[in-house]
Amino acid sequence: MVKGEILLIEDETAIAQNIIYALNTEGYKIFWAKQGRLGLKRFNNKTLLILLDIGLPDMSGFDVCREIRKKSMVPIIFITARKSDVDTVLGLELGGDDYIIKPFSPRAMVARVRALLRRTTAGSKTIVPEDKQCKGMPFGIDEERKQITFYRSKLELTRYEYLILKTLLEHPGRVYSRQQLMQQIWIEPESSLERTVDAHVKSMRKKMKKVSPRHEVILTHRGLGYSLKEDW
Ligand code: CA
Repeated sequence: MVKGEILLIEDETAIAQNIIYALNTEGYKIFWAKQGRLGLKRFNNKTLLILLDIGLPDMSGFDVCREIRKKSMVPIIFITARKSDVDTVLGLELGGDDYIIKPFSPRAMVARVRALLRRTTAGSKTIVPEDKQCKGMPFGIDEERKQITFYRSKLELTRYEYLILKTLLEHPGRVYSRQQLMQQIWIEPESSLERTVDAHVKSMRKKMKKVSPRHEVILTHRGLGYSLKEDW
């Protein structure tokens, strides 16, 4: 059974072949790119996960990761021969999800892939990190379940919070007045106080801070309203 495509970006043939063999045995389809640029070209919304060597001939794995992160939160495992790279992986907040150090056993590698895929797709096929509305942003919307994920963590939102965030996500950067947000969300906006919007926003910020403390996701525009952070 084919589970989906894993993109392997690795220039060493022997290592690549071992990885391909081990993952094929597990039922994964692999696309192998020997260079960073080829890998970037091959990446698409069917890619389940990327195994990314750091030392590549044409560009570094870090740069490949940066490019990918501009448009996608796909799980990335770095492959490195140097332990010193690990600090960079962890320190730069590049958005890698895990790393393996060469030499590694195929079995250990498969276990990491499986664990990461389980973590990132936990219990839901319908959470859509590549949702059109969320291109390049660390959000996923599941409209059927009324759920929003942030860095692949499910946000425990109230109904109003969900509706406000969903509205903001539709047009990142666009400023919505409290009145506009209320009209989008409340059945009878007249009966609600604008302060209520502030309270919901405050509560959502707290929830997102728990997932990623370094981002101010919802921006306040004095006297105007709120917008969603545009650049990620
Ligand atoms: Ca290499």
